[in-house]
Amino acid sequence: MNSSKLPKVAYFCMEYGLSEKLPIYAGGLGVLAGDILKTAYDLKLPLIGIGILWENGYTNQIISADNWPEDKPQKVDRKYLTDTGKQIKLTITGVDVACHIWLCDAFNNAPLYLLEPLNMPRVFSSLYCGSEEDRVKQEMVLGIGGVRALKALGIKPDLYHFNEGHAVLAGIELISDKMDSGMSFEMAWEKTKDEIVFTTHTPVMAGNESHPRELFMHLGANRRLTSEQLSAIGGSPFNMTVAGLKLSHVANGVSTMHATTSRAMWQDIRDSAPILGITNGVHKGTWQNPDINLAYLSKGDLWEEHQKAKLTLLEEVRRTTALSLDPNVLTIGFARRAAPYKRSDLIFRRAEVIEPLLNGGNLQIIFSGKAHPHDYAGKEIISNLVRYSKTHLGRVIFLENYNIGIAKLLVAGVDVWLNNPQRPLEASATSGMKAAMNGVINFSVLDGWWPEACRHSINGWQIGGGYQGPEQNYYDLVSLYDVLIEEVLPTYYDKKHEWVRMMEESIRLSEEFSAERMLYEYYNLLYYPSVTAIKAKAKNVGVLQEV
Ligand SMILES: *Cc1c(COP(=O)(O)O)cnc(C)c1O
Repeated sequence: MNSSKLPKVAYFCMEYGLSEKLPIYAGGLGVLAGDILKTAYDLKLPLIGIGILWENGYTNQIISADNWPEDKPQKVDRKYLTDTGKQIKLTITGVDVACHIWLCDAFNNAPLYLLEPLNMPRVFSSLYCGSEEDRVKQEMVLGIGGVRALKALGIKPDLYHFNEGHAVLAGIELISDKMDSGMSFEMAWEKTKDEIVFTTHTPVMAGNESHPRELFMHLGANRRLTSEQLSAIGGSPFNMTVAGLKLSHVANGVSTMHATTSRAMWQDIRDSAPILGITNGVHKGTWQNPDINLAYLSKGDLWEEHQKAKLTLLEEVRRTTALSLDPNVLTIGFARRAAPYKRSDLIFRRAEVIEPLLNGGNLQIIFSGKAHPHDYAGKEIISNLVRYSKTHLGRVIFLENYNIGIAKLLVAGVDVWLNNPQRPLEASATSGMKAAMNGVINFSVLDGWWPEACRHSINGWQIGGGYQGPEQNYYDLVSLYDVLIEEVLPTYYDKKHEWVRMMEESIRLSEEFSAERMLYEYYNLLYYPSVTAIKAKAKNVGVLQEV
């Protein structure tokens, strides 16, 4: 692409996962944002990131002696940051809050500007922590502060991309700016829409946060808007996703299936932006093991390179747990945020099926994942997995403190990547793409990206069919065991040739599910054409996918 003709995009996100060395991310949302900045750098695209500097990161989650995940603060090392010497100011509950602006470009990434509020350290201590009021304050700094930071830096974006609803107060700021220069609210909103695109991320209703309008008014998050004007945008209570859809001229879901789900979910929202499907992708330079890619490209010994990556993972397992796994045993990987819909314990639900496989030395499973520090139910999920690892010592492993570093080892070093969320609640699941590009074979229900990629027994395996309903746990469990026992295990142990062919077919998915492809689609479908062209295109996409 000729970058001089491309629109300059300011990308807003609450978290960025560029490296485990800069722990200002919680999970998939942040890692996606990090991959986007790295890919923009590779392709020289005029995109910059706006985020927040979380003094204590997210959480280092360490398992205690009684199997419970305990949270420790992370330290953010400023050696990865450059001081811009610039500050901005915003008013929260009538109090001036000064924010320092840092630049992060240490990871071969497009410039990322991070705001550090100076006089509210408690509120900005850790990502996604604090009260509801704290959360809105954080969103004020990201949104309102972010727009002001761009001005202070002399950057004039053509477009603002809100990644998730956290950033929508930037839209309120942009509208208020126009009202300051005499425009009516309606006109200012209309004009602001042309500058905003929006990505929605979760079909889980609880993940689409909303807040009382009164809280916005109390904190000053409304800026120049009246309470009624606020609810025209986000409803009452003010829903951040609804606001994202109504402040933007085009939006996207993060897989074809997620876009369909989102359109149904938000169909009653009047004047919503059309929701396109742009499937996520991952940054190859970060996630693909170069030796495995080389073996794939040069028709070298893929199996040997895979086994090397597996040994590296098993060495890390031994170092952190003092347990030795057998590199010749089929090894399943499962690393997820602790959320009930991900059903991390599904594979254990029938002891009479799974125990003989584990005890007989046919199968070993490595888990990892974090729970949100305040999510007791999530911590129960983690604690359960830790208990399984104790009752199946040396067969089931739990690696504590899941992060980008552990993810890299896992998605290159296990044999099979398991994913069994309750459909249709997984928007994308990018870890499966990372696994595929390393020849780790996906074994997954048809949710998120997998319906677009899966060719059963050619490049992976599907669990269950299209069924969604009250018996989903039952059907998925039966199918999981059936495919595992009838197909996955026999292929691994008896048909190594076929296995390696499936690895090659997995790696073949790398281009389609790369962040490069995703960014080309962003520029072609979200950023580049005129607003009218996008609207026309969006209608077509909607019709095609609904037929
Ligand atoms: C890729 C990644 C995720 C997101 O993976 P999902 O498939 O959405 O679960 C979360 N955390 C880390 C550290 C990752 O690398």
